[in-house]
Amino acid sequence: MSVLDRLDVEPVINAGGPNTKHSGSRPREVAMEAMQEASGQFYNIDEFIIEAGKAIAELIGAPAATITSGASGGLVVQAAAAIARDDPDKIAALPNTDGMANDLIIQKHHRFIYDHLYLTSGGRFKEVGDGATCSPDEVEDAIDENTAAIIHLESPYKRNDIVPLEQLVEIAHRHDLPVLCDAASMLPPRSNLKLFLDQGADLVSFSGGKGIRGPQSTGVLAGTPEWVEYARLNNFPNVGIARAQKVSKEEMAGLVAALGEFVETDEEDETKRYSEMMQMVVDQIIEVPGIAVSVVHDRDHYIPHAVISFSSDWRGPDRDEIHRRLMAGTPRIYVANYGPERQLVIDPLNIQEGELEIVAERVRNELVKAASGE
Ligand SMILES: *Cc1c(COP(=O)(O)O)cnc(C)c1O
Repeated sequence: MSVLDRLDVEPVINAGGPNTKHSGSRPREVAMEAMQEASGQFYNIDEFIIEAGKAIAELIGAPAATITSGASGGLVVQAAAAIARDDPDKIAALPNTDGMANDLIIQKHHRFIYDHLYLTSGGRFKEVGDGATCSPDEVEDAIDENTAAIIHLESPYKRNDIVPLEQLVEIAHRHDLPVLCDAASMLPPRSNLKLFLDQGADLVSFSGGKGIRGPQSTGVLAGTPEWVEYARLNNFPNVGIARAQKVSKEEMAGLVAALGEFVETDEEDETKRYSEMMQMVVDQIIEVPGIAVSVVHDRDHYIPHAVISFSSDWRGPDRDEIHRRLMAGTPRIYVANYGPERQLVIDPLNIQEGELEIVAERVRNELVKAASGE
C-alpha cells in the first residue's frame, strides 16, 4: 500500500500558484535527487549551513547568504539579527528584549499579513506615514535610541512606493541601522535576486518553495557578510529564538540544487511557455458573457497569468463561489481567489503535463454555468 493510499486526502490540480495552503510549488527533480543524496551522510550542521550559504551567495551573485525555514522564518531571523546582532547574552534572551533597542520602523503601507513574524523575536513596530503617503523625513524623525531596524516590503499589489528603497537605505545607514527586506514572492524575475541587495538592503528574504521550486520549507536569506553572520548566529541549529525553525540537511541540499537550476533557466523561454499556456486558457473562456480575461505579466504577476475579471453586467455568483465550485468538482481545481481586485487568477507554475486542458475546460464550464444564472 503506498503511503498516499493510507491518507484520506484528495489531490488538487494546482492552477492557482505557489500558495502554502495548496502545497506551494512542485520541487524540481534536481531538488528531490539532492535530498536523497544528502540523506546518506552525516555532517556538522554549522559547517553545512555555512557551505550551503556560500553556494547560494555564489549562485545569486550576493556578498553572502544563508538558509531559513521559508521566508517567514527569514523574517523572524532578520528581526533577531537586528535586535541581538552577535551578542550571545542578547541572542539567548530573545524574545525578552529588556535593555535592547527593539523598534522596527515600518511605513504604514508596508504592513502586510506576514509582518507579525517580525515581532516573534521581541520586535515592536513603529509605524510611519498614514498608509497612503510617507516622506523620508517622517522615517528619519522616527529614529531614536530604541530603533533596531527599518523594514521594507517588496510584494505584488504593494502600491505607493513613496520612499524608494535606496533612500530608506541611505537614511538607515546614516544611523548605523540595517534595512530588512521581505521579497518572499518576487521571483521570477531572476534579476530580483540581486536587485534589492544592489539597492542597499542589508538582509533580503526569498521563499525557497515558491518560484525557485525548492523544498517548500526553505527560504533564502541574502545580504552583507556582517548581517548574514548576525542572522546565522540567531538561526537554528543554535539554541535561540529560531531553534524551532529547523531546516534539514536534505532540504538545504534541495534548495541549493533547485536554485542552481532556477538561475540557469532561460527566463525568456520560460516566460514564452507560460504565456502560451495562459493564452490557451484565455482562448477557451474569452466568449463567456460578463467577464474579461487576458494574459497579464507585470509587477503584480511574477510570471504570465490568466486574469479573469467580472464586469458590471455579470449576474452570476462571485469569484469565491466559483472558486469553491472548482474545488468541489472532480478533479478538484484550485484557482487563486485572492488579491485586491475581485478577480480569479490562473497561474501556470504548478500545472503539470496533461492538466492544462482539464483546467481550461473545467473553468470554462463553471463560468458558462454561472453566467447563465445557475
Ligand atoms: C509567501 C510570503 C511569505 C512567506 O513565505 P514562506 O516561504 O511561505 O514562509 C512572506 N512574505 C511575503 C510577502 C510572501 O509573499
